[in-house]
Formats: sequence, structure tokens, C-alpha cells
Amino acid sequence: MIINNKRALAYITTIKGIYPIEGYDRVEHAEVLGWRVIVSKNDNFKVGDKCVYFEVDSLCPASDERFAFLEKRHYKIKTIKMCGVYSQGLVMPVSAFKEFPEDIPENTDVTDILGIKYYVEEDNVRKSDTPATPTVKAKYKKLAKKPIIKKLMKYKWFRKVFYAFFGQKKQKNAKAFPTNFPYVHKTDEERIENLPHLVGYENPLIATEKLDGTSCTYILERKKHGKFEFYVTSRNVRQLTPEQDCYHESNIYWELANKYKIEDKLKKYLEDNPDLEYVCIQGEGVGNVQGNPLKLKENDLYVFNFIRSDIGRLDSVKGKNIINAWDMKWVPILDTKYMLPKTMEEIKVASDGKSVVNPNVMREGIVFRDPTNDLSFKSVSRDYMLKHS
Ligand code: ATP
Ligand code: MN
Repeated sequence: MIINNKRALAYITTIKGIYPIEGYDRVEHAEVLGWRVIVSKNDNFKVGDKCVYFEVDSLCPASDERFAFLEKRHYKIKTIKMCGVYSQGLVMPVSAFKEFPEDIPENTDVTDILGIKYYVEEDNVRKSDTPATPTVKAKYKKLAKKPIIKKLMKYKWFRKVFYAFFGQKKQKNAKAFPTNFPYVHKTDEERIENLPHLVGYENPLIATEKLDGTSCTYILERKKHGKFEFYVTSRNVRQLTPEQDCYHESNIYWELANKYKIEDKLKKYLEDNPDLEYVCIQGEGVGNVQGNPLKLKENDLYVFNFIRSDIGRLDSVKGKNIINAWDMKWVPILDTKYMLPKTMEEIKVASDGKSVVNPNVMREGIVFRDPTNDLSFKSVSRDYMLKHS
């Protein structure tokens, strides 16, 4: 759940429902927000109980014995299917955590207090708020993955030494994600499971395929004397030059900028629209990233945001028209008048499907947007997660 603009992996919530699992009498299905989690009947959860909920993607600390039961799962919380049903996340009673006051409010983010991390190591860096975190040069990444190095990395003195040898120097602020463009934000989509009140939403939505790659942002800013400044950024970090190290083998952000001559196209747009201070496109860079789940031969960019300094984000249909006219690709639009199914389960089932980009593979999910307001959220396919996590 996104709390204070940041994804909370663990937080306080309440049990909304308890349902039997047909054919199994020792376990039941607990409902928290829009999630379903298999729990043991021994835990005796009741509707209305306050609990700590850990989302999928979490890594619980092995050093905390309260998570000892997760040892055989390597302390990872993943989407699983058991007893014929999906289970996503982990529910524990608040009483298991004596450090929390009994009246700890719902939606308190307890990720950091409990030492919860992403189990995908890279995500911990990628999602961190501080672009100043030293990153390790690509060729030393392998070394950094060695168990012994990993252990030593827990020590500050070792990190200092390691980064002094192999790391980039402390990043200058110049690499921070730019904050001077009011309508441009780091891309993010909340999960439908965390917005259960949307079940029953009545406005027609634009549904696009969610592509599993890396977020790319391109901004052209108008400067004085007919000059422009071009920004290329990943989810969190400005990529100052095509040579800058990122998490990927090569700098896909700049490769795609060059492939599609994005700077020239944005420049033409600002010249044609002299009242704009800036224009921005944001899209998913896919191909040789995230293990290439779409099995593409070549890196590619699928745009999902077109942002103007005067009115902000255009709706997906208007955005797509401009982008297609530039001989670029928009994320596949699956429907422009999609009515959300009336139950969470049906919404989840509807998210499963084949990718339009490569019909031989499953799609990651769907992003839904209401063109009449700012509402935007994602539904990630459970079957995709079973396969890819
Ligand atoms: P987390 O998984 O921790 O929530 P994340 O950054 O991996 O964070 P994603 O699950 O990838 O988030 O979902 C949000 C991201 O999805 C956006 O930042 C964007 O890069 C990407 N994305 C892919 N396809 C689309 C699409 N069709 N519309 C909007 N965003 C999309
Ligand atoms: Mn992602």
C-alpha cells in the first residue's frame, strides 16, 4: 500500500472477512483489504481483528525469531497457490508485536520498524527515496552478490571500503529525479487490492496492458534564448549521460531516447506549442530488463503518459494519437470504456491474459484509468506473479 508516497510493505490493518476453504478444515481464507491470505485456524483470527499485513515482495528479517516459521520459504512473501486457492501476503496478529501500542492506528507503516525489505535486492535500491545511495558499477554487481560480500555489506565500514574501491562516487544532486515540473512525478500505480472501495466503481475506465520493464521519463524544458534542456531519467534517478551506470547491462534509458529521437520530437512539440514551459513522456522500457518476460528481441519503449506543462497528463487516447503520429508506441489500449467487474475476484480473474505485445506470453496485468479524473491503479495478474516471483 502506498503510504506517504512510498510503498509500505508492512502495515496495520483489520481482518475484513474469514472464509472456509472447501475440502480443508485446518486452514481458512482471511480477507484484508482486497487481499486473500491462507491462515491456520489455530491462529483464530476473527473479523475485525487488528493485524499486521505483509504484502507480497516482502523479505522478513531472519534475525527476528518471530519470523522463524518462514525459514523454509527463505523469509520471502510471495504469491502462492495452495489448497486450490491463491494466497497473497502474510497476516500476523498485532499482539505478536509487543513493541506496538494496542491502539496503533490502521494504516501505520511498520515496514522499517520491523526491518522488512524487498526480497528482490535490486528493488531495495530502485525504490529507495534517496537517489544519493551509492550504486555499484555494473561489472562489480556480480561480486556484490557473493554471499560473503553480502554478509560483510551489513557493516558500514565494509560498505565504505567497498564503495571506495568499486562504487560510484557519492551521487551529485544533479542525478536526483527532477522536482521542478509540477505535473511530472515518479511513476507509480497503487494496487486494486489496496483500494477495495473501488469495487463497484461506476465510471468507464481506459484499460491498458501493464508491461513489466523499467520506467523511463523524458522531459524537455524550455530555457531562455531559444534553448532547451533534455532530461532522461529512470524511475528515481536522472541519467545525465548515456554512459551513466544504471541497474541494467547498458543504459536502456538513453538507448531508447536515441532509438526514437525523443529529444528532437519533444523539441518540435515545444516549437509548435510556444506557450508550454515543458513537455514530458513517460513509458515502460522493455526488452533486456527484468529478465525479458515479454521475450523481445530488441529493447523498446511503450509510452503511458503524455504530460504538458499547461494541462498535465492527457488521457490515454489523446496521448496515443500524438505518440503514434511520432512513429512511437503507446502501451496497448485494451478498452476505452471498461466497466470494472463487481467483485474483487472477478477483477483479478479479468487481469489474467495474454500480452498484446507478445501473445505467446502472459501479460503482467492491467492499468486502469478514469479519463475524467486522476484515478489510476493497477491489477497485477496473480498467475503472472506465480510464474515470475
Ligand atoms: P511495486 O511493484 O513495488 O509496487 P514497481 O515500481 O515495480 O513497484 P509496478 O508494479 O511495476 O511498480 O507498477 C507501476 C509501474 O508500472 C509504473 O511505474 C510504470 O513504470 C509501469 N507500467 C507498465 N505498464 C504501464 C501502463 N500500461 N500504464 C502505467 N504504468 C505502467
Ligand atoms: Mn515494476
